[in-house]
Amino acid sequence: MLSVYQACAEVRSRSLPLTPRRLPLLALLGCRLAEPISADRDSPPFDKSLVDGFAVRSADFDASTPPRELRVVEDVMAGSLPALPIGPGEAAAVMTGAPLPPGADAVVMREECQRAKGFVHVRRDHPVSPGMNRLAQGSEMRAGDLLLEAAHRLGAVDLGLLASVGAAAPLVFPRARLGILATGDEIVPWDELPGPAQIRNSNSAHLHALAVEAGAEPVDLGIARDERGILSQALRQALHDERLDVLLISGGVSVGDRDLVPATLAELGVEPVFHKVSLKPGKPIFFGTYGKHPVPAPARREDIDPNGRTLIFGLPGNPVSTIVGFLLFVRPALEIMGGGRAGDASSVRVRLASAFQHRGPRTTFHPCRIVSGGDSRAPWAEPLQWLGSPDLRTISRADGFARLGPGDREHEPGEEVQFLPIRPCAELALSRGAASGHNQSKADHV
Ligand code: AMP
Ligand code: MG
Repeated sequence: MLSVYQACAEVRSRSLPLTPRRLPLLALLGCRLAEPISADRDSPPFDKSLVDGFAVRSADFDASTPPRELRVVEDVMAGSLPALPIGPGEAAAVMTGAPLPPGADAVVMREECQRAKGFVHVRRDHPVSPGMNRLAQGSEMRAGDLLLEAAHRLGAVDLGLLASVGAAAPLVFPRARLGILATGDEIVPWDELPGPAQIRNSNSAHLHALAVEAGAEPVDLGIARDERGILSQALRQALHDERLDVLLISGGVSVGDRDLVPATLAELGVEPVFHKVSLKPGKPIFFGTYGKHPVPAPARREDIDPNGRTLIFGLPGNPVSTIVGFLLFVRPALEIMGGGRAGDASSVRVRLASAFQHRGPRTTFHPCRIVSGGDSRAPWAEPLQWLGSPDLRTISRADGFARLGPGDREHEPGEEVQFLPIRPCAELALSRGAASGHNQSKADHV
C-alpha cells in the first residue's frame, strides 16, 4: 500500500497546467496569470489634481509676495484638458481628477479659497508648497513597468489593476472543470425526503464548495445507483464529457459487494494509478487517468497532452473521507492545473493544545480547531473529539486536520505536528487572529 507521500507524488506527476487562454477580466478572480502584465501608459497619465480647488504656481506664495489674489484663467473639469497655461499671478479652477494646466505645480483646496469676479483669494495663513494636492504624471506607474508577474494568482484588487491598464482579456490558466458524481443506492438529493434507510447526498455539496475555493469550476453530475449498468452509463458519460479535466466520484470504491466503481472504471479504459493509501480516514481511495493515449509510468510531461487526459479520483463515501481525500490529493492537482506549484498539502505546522494519543499503522488526519495565534510560532490546535469519518458535524467546527504519523504514540501538549488546512492557507492565517483567546468546552478536547 502506498504511503501518503508516495500517493501525493503520483498525483502531482500526472497533473499538468491547463493550456493558457485569454479570458474576460470579470471571470478571473482566483485564476493565475500566464503572462506578465505591464503598464500600458503612465498613471496618472497627466499631472492630476487630488482635490477640488485652484491650480496655482507655488512660487507665487513665497512669504515676500502677498497679497494672495490670483486671476482665474479657466475652469478645468475632470475629463477635459486645460486650454491655457497659467503664468505668475494666475490660477485655474480644477476639479478632482482634472489635469493641471502647464505652469501649475500645486492645488489649493477650494475650502481655503474665496472666489469672486474672475479672481480667487487664498486664505492668508494657508501654506502652499510645490506638489501640494498634485499627483505627478507617472508617479503611480510608468508605461512599461512590470505590475504582475506570470503565475500570480489574481485577487479582487488585481482585477481593478488589470482594468486600469486595459488588460481586458489577459492570458491566464483557465479554471479546471471538475465533475462530481455521487454514488450509492441509499443516497438521495438533499432537497428530497429520504426514506427510512436512506441519507441525503452531503458529499456533492461540500466537494462542490471545496472545488470553488480551490479555484476550479465544479459540475454536478448527480447521483448514480450501485447498479452495474447505471453506474457504467454515468461514468462513461462523464469520461466522454469533453469539458471535464477532473472527475470526482464519491462512494463505491471500497471492498463491499456494491462497491463497483474501480472495476467499472477499468472496464471503461481508465488506467489505475493507485487504489488504497495508508491513510485514515479514506484508505480505499482510487486514482487513475483516462485519455486517448496510454501514458507510461512514471508519467513524463512530454508524454501527456494536458487537455487530453482526465484525472479520476474515487473517494470513499464517508463525508470526512471525501474531505481529507480532496484536500490531500485533489486540491494539489487543481493547483498545478491552474498554473501553481503544489507543495506538500499539509506543510503548515501547528502545536497540539492538549495531549493526544494516536494508535494504528496508518498516517492519520485528526480534526482540530485552531484556538490561538498571534505570536510567530506555530498556532495552537485543539484536537476535537469525533466519531470518525461519517461525523460531518464535528468537521464543520474544525479548521483542518493534524497529521499524525503511523504507529502508536502519545503526543504531548505543545508538540508540533503538520496540519492539513480545510481552507486555503491565507484565510487560515486571518481566522487565527479572530479565533485567538476563544474558549472551548471540555467536550471538544480529546
Ligand atoms: P461507500 O464508500 O459507498 O461504501 O460509502 C461509505 C459511507 O459513506 C456509507 O455509510 C454511505 O452511506 C456514506 N456515503 C456515501 N456517499 C455519500 C454521500 N454522497 N453523501 C453522504 N454520505 C455518503
Ligand atoms: Mg456506497
